[in-house]
Amino acid sequence: MSGQKLRLATAWLGGCSGCHMSFLDLDERLVELAEVAELVYSPIADVKEFPEAVDITLVEGAVANVDHLELAQQIRERSRIVASFGDCAVTGNVTSLRNRIPVPDLLNQVYQGGPGAIPRQSPDDPIMPALLPTVLPLHQVIEVDAFVPGCPPDPDRIWAAVRALIFGEAAPHDPHLRTFG
Ligand code: SF4
Repeated sequence: MSGQKLRLATAWLGGCSGCHMSFLDLDERLVELAEVAELVYSPIADVKEFPEAVDITLVEGAVANVDHLELAQQIRERSRIVASFGDCAVTGNVTSLRNRIPVPDLLNQVYQGGPGAIPRQSPDDPIMPALLPTVLPLHQVIEVDAFVPGCPPDPDRIWAAVRALIFGEAAPHDPHLRTFG
């Protein structure tokens, strides 16, 4: 690598944040990572807009609503390499469990069906982003360059993936790690 730091991003779509917690469990390896990469966007950094000219973006979570869809498309336009980070991004996983339920029924059950019912949102003034008819894994929405499965991927697997993406190192033998063409 040249002396310039690589621009790294992590994004959080429809997931539980467990993949990001596992990323933080890299522990002292985060210091090593910080020597070669600058974190330019992440839920653990207070950056509102996805930046331009990102080298590598790890995306946690599936695409579940219109905001996720817009962010996924921005990520693809602005990132050289996009990796699906964790099973929700790779397959839909837990986030896609609602796919057999029509969205109106789902919203009715969750927000109007119980004792904590909230007012129906107005289409003109929505209080949350509209759900997509079904939850989609990331590669069904944008082109994805690498897949890092696991729920969550354990820190050793994340580290192997990050090193391979940054340094082009061969990933160690791991039958579950599908990455790095
Ligand atoms: Fe959470 Fe597992 Fe989905 Fe990661 S893959 S966001 S840990 S449910």
